Amino acid sequence: AKEALTHNVCFYEVSMDEAARDRRLIATDLWYAIERKELQLYYQVQKAVQSGSVIGYEVLLRWNHSERGMISPAQFIPIAEECGAILPIGEWVLREACKEAANWDQPHKIAVNLSPVQLGNADVAGLVHRVLRETGLAPERLELEITESTIIGDKERALRTLRQIKALGVTIAIDDFGTGYSSLETLRSFPFDKIKLDRSFMSEVEESPQAKAILRAIVALGQTLEVPVLAEGVETRNQLDILLSEGCAEAQGYFLGRPGPMEGKSPSQAA
Ligand code: C2E
Ligand code: CA
Ligand code: CA
Ligand code: CA
Repeated sequence: AKEALTHNVCFYEVSMDEAARDRRLIATDLWYAIERKELQLYYQVQKAVQSGSVIGYEVLLRWNHSERGMISPAQFIPIAEECGAILPIGEWVLREACKEAANWDQPHKIAVNLSPVQLGNADVAGLVHRVLRETGLAPERLELEITESTIIGDKERALRTLRQIKALGVTIAIDDFGTGYSSLETLRSFPFDKIKLDRSFMSEVEESPQAKAILRAIVALGQTLEVPVLAEGVETRNQLDILLSEGCAEAQGYFLGRPGPMEGKSPSQAA
């Protein structure tokens, strides 16, 4: 099956410019990244703003390519989505993360990113069910992060899948909230357990009254819908103080902890 898929890989024009050739090489290597053991999971802490206690960890994929060194997920995830490699890779991430977290010395939650391509092309609910059974991770310790683009395609199908996942006891967070174009409609019709406010708001909240007003409105929206709001990209003490005074429940960002690998039986806590 891998052979057939490899031939399918993102073939562009005959005269590819350098960027396109680069993408094609990356796409080819992606299929082998798992078996070459080049993929690794990093974890970034998510904390309660008021108490500072740990709520969970977001799982972030890292690819250490044998020749190119570290390649950013912002670069290779879109390529993986385009050529289909995101399906085996996404499955690997989910299984590894659940396996590792099941062995942690503390039962924190993990938040795993789910690609739109996974939701559209694979039986994700079945996969989650199998992986939870295999790894023994308690379902309430797993959260899946999806962006609005995930549900822009076949809405009925997406909704059905999300309901099946929630029926397992797994929670769903909407990621990068505020960057899409149908946010309110999406919030109204989908069963989210958490709103993750895109980090572009945090980067502006200290200077821009508009960004602050939007933060305030989204926090109020979360309160009305009874779902916590998590602010992404918190890099300074001052930003955290603003979140505290605005009543934003949760936060994530370099100020609270950088993504890092496992150290023994818990994620590393470097800030
Ligand atoms: P994301 O889901 O929005 O993940 C958060 C990104 O923000 C991460 O980048 C994280 O390292 C970065 N970040 C965290 N705190 C801060 C901060 O205070 N300041 C700034 N400037 N950045 C911060 P990363 O790890 O490079 O991942 C980029 C994107 O790649 C992710 O964005 C996500 O969309 C995607 N991605 C990563 N891992 C996976 C995965 O396993 N599966 C899928 N489908 N996508 C993934
Ligand atoms: Ca995310
Ligand atoms: Ca995000
Ligand atoms: Ca993102």
